[in-house]
Amino acid sequence: MALDKNMLCCQQHVDVAIDDYINEYETFPNMDKVESGKCDYCENKAEYVIGN
Ligand SMILES: [Zn+2]
Repeated sequence: MALDKNMLCCQQHVDVAIDDYINEYETFPNMDKVESGKCDYCENKAEYVIGN
């Protein structure tokens, strides 16, 4: 998947999203809560945005 933008993820996929980010950029991402949007990994409501 493309990681050149912020990723949205639900509670279940936050660990996967962080791992993907670290694998791609070899640095720990910033993480914030979001109030809207859909998880990039499933159909659940997004809880976090991960990016730089
Ligand atoms: Zn998800």
